[in-house]
Amino acid sequence: MYDYIMIRYGDLILKGKNQHIFRQNINNQIAHKMYGLEVELEFQHDLVFIKLNDVEPELVIERLNYISGLSSYSKTMKCEYDIDVISDKAIELLKSEITEPTTFKIETKRADKTITLKSYEISNLVSKKVLRNVENLIVDVNKPKTILNIEARREGTYIYTDKIPGLGGFPTSTGGRAMLLISGGIDSPVAGYLTMNTGLEIECVHFESSPLTPVESVQKVIDLVTVLSRYAPGSKIKLHLVPFREIHEQILSNIHESYIITIMRRMMYRLAEALAKKNNCKAIVSGDSIGQVASQTLESLITVQSVLDTLVIRPLATYDKSDIIKIAKKIKTYQISNRPFSDCCTVYVPKRPVIKPTIERAETFEKAFDYNKYLKLAIKNTITIEINERKPLNILDKG
Ligand code: ATP
Ligand code: MG
Repeated sequence: MYDYIMIRYGDLILKGKNQHIFRQNINNQIAHKMYGLEVELEFQHDLVFIKLNDVEPELVIERLNYISGLSSYSKTMKCEYDIDVISDKAIELLKSEITEPTTFKIETKRADKTITLKSYEISNLVSKKVLRNVENLIVDVNKPKTILNIEARREGTYIYTDKIPGLGGFPTSTGGRAMLLISGGIDSPVAGYLTMNTGLEIECVHFESSPLTPVESVQKVIDLVTVLSRYAPGSKIKLHLVPFREIHEQILSNIHESYIITIMRRMMYRLAEALAKKNNCKAIVSGDSIGQVASQTLESLITVQSVLDTLVIRPLATYDKSDIIKIAKKIKTYQISNRPFSDCCTVYVPKRPVIKPTIERAETFEKAFDYNKYLKLAIKNTITIEINERKPLNILDKG
C-alpha cells in the first residue's frame, strides 16, 4: 500500500551556513544504511524520500532508527494532485489503519503554490468523501487522535497518518572525533551512543588484562562495539585493545590498596590520551556517573583527570542509573553488558577504596614503579581492529 518513506531532518536550521554539510553527511548515511535493499532515494532540500519498490516499510524504518540527526519519518502513499484520487487513497489508507472509533481531522500542506485551492478547502473536500466511506471516524479539529496529512508538493501529493520519531540529535561525524573508554559495563556503551548522537564520531579503547581477566570479557567489548557501530558512519568503529596486564600487576604489587583504583584510572587515562592524540581524537569520553561508586566522586574524578590536558566528556555525569539502563535497553547493549565476565576493574576490587583521594598522594604512590616504561610498551603493543556490524568478529573461536 505504501509507496514512499518521507524523512524529516532534525534541527539543521540551527546550523546556518553549515546546513549543506550536515545534509550531505546525513544523506550519505541514509544511502549507506539502505545497502542491499531495492529502494531508491530522492533527496530534496527539506526532505528525503525513499521509494519503496515493494520493500517492506518496516525494514527501512528499522534501519533509519540508527541514523542520528533525523527527526521523524512517515509511511506515505503518493498520487497525482487530484481531489478524487487523493480521496480514494485517503480512504484506502484509513480503512487499513482504523479499526476502532477514533477522533480525526485532515491537515493539508501546499508546498506547491501553483495549486489554486486553499489548504482548508482541500481538507474539506477530501474530508466529505472520507467520512462517507470510512467508519469509526469522529471529527475533532482540536485534539484528534488520528491526523490524516495531505502534502501537495510539486512532484506529487503524499498522504500519511503517522509520524514516527527518529533518533534526533546531530548527524554523527559532523563534530569531530572522540576516544571512548569502553569497559564491559552498562554505562560506557551508553556514553558512546550519546556521544555519537550529539554529532561526534568515536573510536574506542579498552584496557584488557588477560589472562588475569577471561578472554570472554574482550569478546563482550567487541560485541558492544559491534552494536554501537550500527550508529556510526559507514557502520564501522575502530577499537584499540591495550594490553594492561603488566601495568595492572605492577599496581597490584606496588600501590597501597586504597589507591589501586585511582592509580589504575590514572594509567588508563594516560594511555587513552596518548592514543587519542595519535588518532586525531580531540576529546576523551568516559561512562563516569558522579557518585555511582568510590572512583566517581568529584575528588576521584579530579585526581584522575589531573594527568591529562585533553578534554574529557562524561555524558552520563548527572544521570540516574535507571535512566542509563533505559537507554542501554533501547540501544540493545544492556543484555551484552549483563554477561557475567569481569574486566580489569572488577578483578581484585580493593575492600576499602579511597573516597576522597588527592593528587599529591596519588603522585607519591605512583613513584613506586617506573610506569612510563610500561605505558610506552602498552601503546606499542596495542592492537587496533575495525569493528563492522556487517562482519561480526568472534575471537573465542580463534583460541
Ligand atoms: P561501566 O563499566 O559500564 O562504565 P561502571 O559503573 O562499571 O560502568 P567503572 O568500572 O567505574 O564504571 O568505570 C568508569 C569508566 O571508566 C567506564 O565508564 C569507562 O569509561 C572507563 N573504564 C573502566 N574500565 C575500563 C576498561 N577496562 N577499559 C576502558 N575503559 C574503562
Ligand atoms: Mg566498569
